[in-house]
Amino acid sequence: PGSGGRVRKDLDVHRRAVLLHGVGDVDPESIDDYIQMGGYEALKKVLSSMAPEDVVEEVKESGLRGRGGAGFPTGLKWSFTLPIKAPEKYVICNADEGEPGTFKDRYIMEGNPHRLVEGLIIAGYAVGANKGFIYVRGEYYLSMYRLQKAVEQARERGFLGERILGSRFSFDIEIRSGAGAYVCGEETALIESIEGLRGNPRVKPPFPGVRGLWENPTVVNNVETLANVPAILRNGAAWYRSFGTEDSPGVKLYQICGHVNEPQIVEAPLGLTLRELIERYGGGMRDGIPFKMCQTGGASFGFFTAEHLDTVMDYASMQQRGGALGSGTMLVMNERTCVVDVVRNIMHFFQHESCGFCTPCRRGTRVLYDTLTRIAAGEGRESDLDHLIDLARTMSATANCALAMSPIFFVRTTIERLKDEYLAHIVDKACPLGVCPA
Ligand code: NAD
Repeated sequence: PGSGGRVRKDLDVHRRAVLLHGVGDVDPESIDDYIQMGGYEALKKVLSSMAPEDVVEEVKESGLRGRGGAGFPTGLKWSFTLPIKAPEKYVICNADEGEPGTFKDRYIMEGNPHRLVEGLIIAGYAVGANKGFIYVRGEYYLSMYRLQKAVEQARERGFLGERILGSRFSFDIEIRSGAGAYVCGEETALIESIEGLRGNPRVKPPFPGVRGLWENPTVVNNVETLANVPAILRNGAAWYRSFGTEDSPGVKLYQICGHVNEPQIVEAPLGLTLRELIERYGGGMRDGIPFKMCQTGGASFGFFTAEHLDTVMDYASMQQRGGALGSGTMLVMNERTCVVDVVRNIMHFFQHESCGFCTPCRRGTRVLYDTLTRIAAGEGRESDLDHLIDLARTMSATANCALAMSPIFFVRTTIERLKDEYLAHIVDKACPLGVCPA
């Protein structure tokens, strides 16, 4: 099952073809290594022969969608900001990678930081910004160090600064560090943080593309999104579209975690199935213990069970089946894993990371966690299951940001798809697998 129009090329040929090209081969602290593999060629091409409108059009045509999780079309996002007349415009790279199980952006930043720097400069040119920020997760010391070094080297070679490569375009980049809050990965909380304020998400709309950093139009893109940009501009939109599916063209970093033999990050064309990811790339289920479920897209989304193993993993197909491609993280679990224990654990994360700004999230995450803890301990009631879904739905409809909109996905899909296991905790007053704390 899944969307038609699969146009992908052979999977193995394209491992490390775009996003991870050079990772593990180049010295990430050497701009010469990056230049030798064709680095900064896209920037030269853009500045010498393309108007900002052409760049936006090319990215639009490529079908690139935001790789932070939401999958919003990148070229379309840029096209909102480009025509706005404003004293300042900004581009921000969201490198505050905090989704549990997600570590793909770190791979790019540590392994080939110049690819991101080049992508951000091109984004700045495309929307008419002269200043860029890279907001890096506070724990990512090595990423920060290497990005700082890459920025300095790019400045020395004239790829950053005044009148870049003799053009009329001036642009510079500043690296900022997060401080460990998950919510600061939400783009408007991140903007508040750069402004020196507490990281509370703003109400959207207005979207940052219209009113963002210091009230100015600001494009916020994820690391992986920007890392695609140099290759798209160098090789063209048609080339990029030769990978992936009609709905989701291009390549993606997938992170395969959990009970597989070889947890890892792989670069593959969009449209691979979960079964392919587990068997071809993850080395199969660990110790041969059968597959039970997979949390899709990171911690924020729904669960797939065995009947979904052949779903095509593009944005539309995953969403249609109650999952999501999200950040590309697939957390695979075997049949010895207790669903109540896992959902309770994820809920603990959201409850801990709630910024406390809005009541639906502050109280809702706490009540969801307490209810799941009761069920896990064998003290649940059958009516709790409906209450969990009702509360998660209410939070999703009333909370201020995406953090509290997440629980409905994993609460609903697990209760619908693995209801017997929830009921066993309630009826037998104990965890059937002996996993949950009594
Ligand atoms: P969103 O759908 O509100 O927005 C996605 C992007 O598109 C934003 O940049 C937004 O400004 C833009 N956008 C959306 N609608 C627009 C419109 N009408 N006009 C102009 N711009 C528009 O999603 P979000 O709240 O920014 O992000 C939620 C996602 O973040 C989830 O998918 C979640 O998985 C992901 N996430 C990722 C991580 C990570 O570490 N990668 C961590 C937490 C959450």
